[in-house]
Amino acid sequence: MRVQSIFRAVFSAFLLVSLCPAAPKNVILFIGDGMGIGQLTAAKYANGGLEMERCTVGGLVTTHCSNDMVTDSAAGGTALSTGHKTSKGTIAQTPDGTPLETVLEVAEDKGKSTGLVVTCGITHATPASFSAHVAKRNMEPQIAEQIAAKDIEVLLGGGRAFFIPRSEKGSKRKDDKDLLAVLKGKMTVVTNETELMKVGTPQRLAGFFAEVAMPKVSEGRISLATMTSKAIEVLAQNKAGFFLMVEGSQIDWGGHANDAGYIVSEMADFDKAVGVGLDFAQKGGDTLVVVTADHETGGFSILGGSVDARTLDQTAFATNHHSAAMVPLLAFGPDAEIFGGLIDNAEVGKRLIEQVQASVRMVAPSDAMTGKIQSVP
Ligand SMILES: [Zn+2]
Repeated sequence: MRVQSIFRAVFSAFLLVSLCPAAPKNVILFIGDGMGIGQLTAAKYANGGLEMERCTVGGLVTTHCSNDMVTDSAAGGTALSTGHKTSKGTIAQTPDGTPLETVLEVAEDKGKSTGLVVTCGITHATPASFSAHVAKRNMEPQIAEQIAAKDIEVLLGGGRAFFIPRSEKGSKRKDDKDLLAVLKGKMTVVTNETELMKVGTPQRLAGFFAEVAMPKVSEGRISLATMTSKAIEVLAQNKAGFFLMVEGSQIDWGGHANDAGYIVSEMADFDKAVGVGLDFAQKGGDTLVVVTADHETGGFSILGGSVDARTLDQTAFATNHHSAAMVPLLAFGPDAEIFGGLIDNAEVGKRLIEQVQASVRMVAPSDAMTGKIQSVP
């Protein structure tokens, strides 16, 4: 290679890195389904402190959807995943059926690895908002088909029943499609915690820990922190970075059940998973962590208790459905400050997509010298 062209390659690499905004290489979005200020307050006092307190930026998020002040997880998830509001029950498309590109799809387009980790089924409304486009959230067999057709590197949660043909026991499909076989053709698939711990670090990993919904953490479910840690280990192999969504799905179910103990145990499980994400982000310095919720559930209030004894003596619920109460947002890492203040959930989604879009693939000096510049503007 001539000296001139070496100089040009090095110079253009330098220019690209210096002109592009310093966007994070990796983005981890933690969604506490149904996690309002009450849920956060309960977890803080019952645990005597939270991993989430390591976040340096705080905000509040409005969650209304396009046709109601009180949203559901489908429309709430869609706002966070696409930056657009839609109607209740709709997954990553407009009310009239136009698909909306999700942050996970943008990340895949940028050559990043992607992952979804949940404590519900992987075809449930929140994770589906990142991986599928359907008119109704209960179209889980179709959501499973869209997930199987995608290039997602990590899938951990429940919902195996939607991936197996109707002839198999426990199937929730009405056809003979064997989507589990499709996944097995391209991913390592595990079905319990022991297998997950022995699997090493494959290129692609799916873990189905339940036929449909997973048990409560208080009933011995695999911890969200364990799943998150394994997901990060697999995804971090990609030098172009990754996008990971982790959902504490059952905080919402505790709210629907008006069960403060259920909320507190699921919040603790979720918080430890956030801790795993923050540990990774603090070590590398190039990971943005955003923690928020799709909506509040239960109109949950803490009316009395002991800070020292870590007890919640008096709690109340205004409903066994969702509420319109704003939800907390906590962030850490590069560009975390753009998520601060009082913002709308669709704006959170837009800013997440901008972060993934702006992310520049790191150029190794040796690649720059040989002119193989992999940066994506
Ligand atoms: Zn709910």
